[in-house]
Amino acid sequence: MAFVVTSNCKKCRFTDCVAVCPVECFHADEEMLYIDPEECIDCGACVPECPVEAIYDEAQLPDDQTEWLDINKEKAQSLPVISEQVDPLPGAEERKEELGF
Ligand code: SF4
Ligand code: SF4
Repeated sequence: MAFVVTSNCKKCRFTDCVAVCPVECFHADEEMLYIDPEECIDCGACVPECPVEAIYDEAQLPDDQTEWLDINKEKAQSLPVISEQVDPLPGAEERKEELGF
């Protein structure tokens, strides 16, 4: 079991999640973050921190987001760890509004 980052993270990258994660399991590309399921200790601390509700417990992934399970696993293997909070992407606030948050 692990936690999974889903599509709402795209173009946002607020990274509040990284600030609370007790292990270094977040990996980042230019667009969003991914959780390494091998490193995630299932603490759930990141879930309430995400302003766009992008993070789910694997067991509670909505049906239309299940593809993110494999995407997180694959992307985390090749992308660098992000261990500190960084500025959100330009336009992140607008994207958040678009998503209804
Ligand atoms: S807080 Fe949410 S939107 Fe921001 S980087 Fe983490 S998962 Fe992505
Ligand atoms: S559930 Fe805990 S260990 Fe896993 S990514 Fe979130 S904060 Fe990190």
